[in-house]
Amino acid sequence: MRPSDASIATPPRSPDGRIGVAAKCGGVIVTEALADGAVDEVQWLHAAIDRLETAGASGALFVFIQQPPDQRLADALRAVTVARRLGPSVVASPTALASRDRVELLERAGVQAVYLDAWATEAARDAGTAERTSLRRALVWLTSAPKFLFKSRVGVHFELTPTTAPQLAGVLRLLGKLDRSELLLWDGNRGDPNAARIPPSAALRLLDGAITTAQRLGVRIRPVGFERLRTAMAPPGTEPCVAGPVMIELLREAVPLPSAGGGLLATRDAEVPIAHAAPTATALVQVAFELAGGGRPFVDLPPCLGGPPPGDAARSSAATCAKVEACRNCPIDEACAGVPLPVLAMPGVRAAIAPPPHWLPIPEQARIALVCPIVTDPVYGASFFSLARCLVRLGARVDIVTPWEIHMHVSPSFTRTQHMGEPPHGRAVAAFMIDAPVEQYDVIITPDPKVTRPLVVSRRLRPHTRLAITDFHMLGGIDEWVRDLCAPDRRPEEGDWWPSDRIMLYSAFPGYGRLYTRYGVPMHQVAWQPFAVDPVHFSMERPATEGTTIISAGHHRRDLDTFLSAAARLSHDIHPIELFAPAVGDVPPQVHFRGTVPSDVFCPEVGNSRFMVVPLIDDPYNAAGITALVTAIMCGRPVVATATAGVRDYVSDGVNGLLVPPGDPQAMADAIERLDRDPELLAALAAGARAAAPMYTTEAWARALVHGSRTFDDGHWMWTKWRHRRV
Ligand code: SF4
Repeated sequence: MRPSDASIATPPRSPDGRIGVAAKCGGVIVTEALADGAVDEVQWLHAAIDRLETAGASGALFVFIQQPPDQRLADALRAVTVARRLGPSVVASPTALASRDRVELLERAGVQAVYLDAWATEAARDAGTAERTSLRRALVWLTSAPKFLFKSRVGVHFELTPTTAPQLAGVLRLLGKLDRSELLLWDGNRGDPNAARIPPSAALRLLDGAITTAQRLGVRIRPVGFERLRTAMAPPGTEPCVAGPVMIELLREAVPLPSAGGGLLATRDAEVPIAHAAPTATALVQVAFELAGGGRPFVDLPPCLGGPPPGDAARSSAATCAKVEACRNCPIDEACAGVPLPVLAMPGVRAAIAPPPHWLPIPEQARIALVCPIVTDPVYGASFFSLARCLVRLGARVDIVTPWEIHMHVSPSFTRTQHMGEPPHGRAVAAFMIDAPVEQYDVIITPDPKVTRPLVVSRRLRPHTRLAITDFHMLGGIDEWVRDLCAPDRRPEEGDWWPSDRIMLYSAFPGYGRLYTRYGVPMHQVAWQPFAVDPVHFSMERPATEGTTIISAGHHRRDLDTFLSAAARLSHDIHPIELFAPAVGDVPPQVHFRGTVPSDVFCPEVGNSRFMVVPLIDDPYNAAGITALVTAIMCGRPVVATATAGVRDYVSDGVNGLLVPPGDPQAMADAIERLDRDPELLAALAAGARAAAPMYTTEAWARALVHGSRTFDDGHWMWTKWRHRRV
């Protein structure tokens, strides 16, 4: 069983049967329910938990029960607790919770939380005398449970649907009168999966409002299943809000809460609310940079902790700030206001304040070794030679280690560059990493963590050599680093295993900051470096409005089902779509299937098109489509793209493209029609793409390496796209 299996209900919803289970597998909530029948419930539960684990379940396990728990059920839950596989919580009907003994049985089984099912409460209200008695008992239990339970939390399970939404405020008020209460707020619909759901933007506002109200009333809130909102856009221009643990957790899941559209505040007067979610300096740095990468910075933190650039209007905190000794070496010392005093008083923060190493320029006339990737793609291969030429123009002396000399002279027309098979100098790269005289270099640039591993584990870097590792492939190879460098009794996310502050990752995906924290990579060591190419291979000569085709291309994690369904809904007078992809089935008449073609065919096609469509499968741990996006941008073409975290790192909705929710063919069709029919919109978004293009050049990459990556020339700031977004 895998989360992507069609048989699994990916939208979170409560099971209908006598007993059900749910857990998070990857980026989706997987639910299963036992339908009515003679099957033994506890046997079924064991099997269902095994299936969830096989599907990659992690974190909380929700068990839904209609009948009072017995010893066998408790034993099954205890087995999960003892094995520390998943953390069970129970959602129960009023009947099941109508006695103290039953709740204590669940606590002894190690259940983390017990929730009264608010939906079942509604049903009980409308039902007969026995159910209403159960409801009364359950409410008594809810009121008195904190006095006799010592480890388990208690609360109400509330399923947010169009029907129940009006009752949310009332349930929160009820919980506000109880001690140690918690609201388990579940996104979805009970029963019919085809029933109407709250639109993403409305659900987002309700969730955001519930979090704010819960904070005010002192109610814990535990949202589940709101991942579907990842694609909704938070409105810009709102005031910064005070961060809370729940809000931070949701933002880490890329749920764009409207109240965070103005950024976050780490401090409120003398209080430090961020300390509840990130109590140590290491945790603070990780969380602050991670959220900054997603475009939600802590606006009252200094830039070295992921805050906005000096002088940004959002940084209006009244808190008194201070500098530390390390600020003297910071390239923005004079412009920076420093660190709020309450934050500076947190354990270890004073020692953590320092300019990230990648902000600092490299020595003049630095000696650089540039190691090229083993790729057959001429655009990607040529970009490393182009980077070398740019570095030389900035005064560096560059040696190149390459498996493919052919990429040195890739002509703008790409002729004679598509070599396949084993590269002639494939061993040269591995040999350099194992025994080359690396001590001769001030900077060594490598193509990915996997290739770089031998050099890192041998610890041959001299103290002043900077190792700049390109990470265009989402930490591919980092597992081997962890195996070699992380102590066996520690988990990588605990950190403290990164071998040197001279080793920096240049990541193409700031929106996936959580990936780095999951591996314990210190965020001070990660710089935002977009995927970059040599502009000579792309043409902006023909205006997008004169294009006669629409392009769609690529195969990695492409959502072709949604794309083809969208294409079938298009009017017949829309410009034809040229689809460059490996084999697909039947295509609608609007689509011309072109198969896969070499770059010397593809790039001119993009340069002659109107815009590009990039349909993607949403995956919180895998980015895709970046090469296609950068190709479109470099040709001055806007995109209609699925709003994944990776796409949002490159495309701003309404600036250089239109973003649509994942798996929504109608939204994609509407966006294609809109952009194709509106020449003014097409021209405006094409201008946005042309304006963004300089950021994705090898020249900008070279300048960031030589002068330090604290700024780009256009004012684009490090990790955050904060300034870019606010303008
Ligand atoms: S190190 Fe730089 S960014 Fe950080 S507080 Fe000091 S001057 Fe500001």
